[in-house]
Amino acid sequence: MLKLGVVALQGAVSEHVESLKAAFSRLGLDGAVELVKKPAELERVQGIVIPGGESTVIGRVAERTGLLKALKERIEGGLPVFGTCAGAILLAKEVYDAKVGRVQQPLIGVMDIKVVRNYYGRQKESFEVDLEIPAIGDKPFRGVFIRAPAIEAVGDKVKVLAVYEGLPVLVQQNKMLAATFHPELTNDTRIHEFFIRSLLG
Ligand code: GLN
Repeated sequence: MLKLGVVALQGAVSEHVESLKAAFSRLGLDGAVELVKKPAELERVQGIVIPGGESTVIGRVAERTGLLKALKERIEGGLPVFGTCAGAILLAKEVYDAKVGRVQQPLIGVMDIKVVRNYYGRQKESFEVDLEIPAIGDKPFRGVFIRAPAIEAVGDKVKVLAVYEGLPVLVQQNKMLAATFHPELTNDTRIHEFFIRSLLG
């Protein structure tokens, strides 16, 4: 049985748990989802999701409990990870804030992406848009963006799976997947299914 974890310190945790469960059942797989708060709980999972929320809060709490270091070590060792919004920020090697510039915040720092926090500013703080994501099929995917970051630059090893207004919004590097939007806030589980399939392949 496949066991996946969701980092459960703050943010859209239960939504990811539900999406992963629905994705397991659509794929016809026997899977379990566990909440991960402590480093020891990370040992038990074969893949991990880092939800949206507030990246500074998740990062600081995870640093205090040792989970941040454990995540870095395991992800560098090949543990598949899917980060959404704040989760994508935490995965980036380089982060700055659209308003205040460079910020001191704890990061996992494993993906070759440069991320700008709060990129869309006040007017477009939250919006929804249909995204073309050929990797998951022809039907557009409804992208829900909430105080979303933008991925400003990607390294050579990063595959861009979707763009919005010319900027990557879904990227993959080996077994690491990052979205600047919130697939867990829709009933469409295709991106979660894509993540689970990438674990099997
Ligand atoms: N703006 C948040 C941050 O910087 C991310 C927003 C989100 O996850 N919905 O952490």
